[in-house]
Amino acid sequence: MYPIVEHFYTLQGEGYWAGTPAYFIRLGGCDVGCSWCDTRHSWKKEGWPTFSPTDILGWISQTPATHIVLTGGEPTMHPLDPLISELKARGYFLQIETSGAYPPPDLPIDWVTFSPKRFKPPQPTWYHQAHELKVVIHAKSDFAWAETQRNRCKATQAHFLQPDFYNPSALQWIMDYIKLHPSWRLSMQLHRYLAIP
Ligand code: SF4
Repeated sequence: MYPIVEHFYTLQGEGYWAGTPAYFIRLGGCDVGCSWCDTRHSWKKEGWPTFSPTDILGWISQTPATHIVLTGGEPTMHPLDPLISELKARGYFLQIETSGAYPPPDLPIDWVTFSPKRFKPPQPTWYHQAHELKVVIHAKSDFAWAETQRNRCKATQAHFLQPDFYNPSALQWIMDYIKLHPSWRLSMQLHRYLAIP
């Protein structure tokens, strides 16, 4: 059984799959403690309604969704293999958004969005499993940290810098930086501008 904060069918707003219709499953619990976190309501691990993989499949099957996003909170605080197994058995494309603070599930995931945080160092294996790297820029010193993270992600297909939504300077910093370092791409939180979940 999984503690679910919320679930909804929407458009992915961030990173490589931005604009893609996707069914989001937000699991409760995160102990990373990012100062700029925009999903603080999901930090507590207990006290949420809990649901089985069958329940979750039931929600998704009522939509045309083919792309599923496991997010949080930090979804890997939970044993995800039973849920991954059920979703993959139904042929869904499975994406996970993780800080990497906990070990990866044993089962393969189609797309790993790896967003390491300074506040709780990632488990090293995530650096080899990430399909995309996404670093949030809150302060100018984050650029140097982002480069150290990218250097550890040798096989990662795409590298994104995403502005802290609450820092009005961060977007301009990133645009200037990317023009000088063109292997990076900009990730916006598209859902915020579209006013969708
Ligand atoms: S890892 Fe994500 S959910 Fe956890 S505190 Fe940081 S931004 Fe918030």
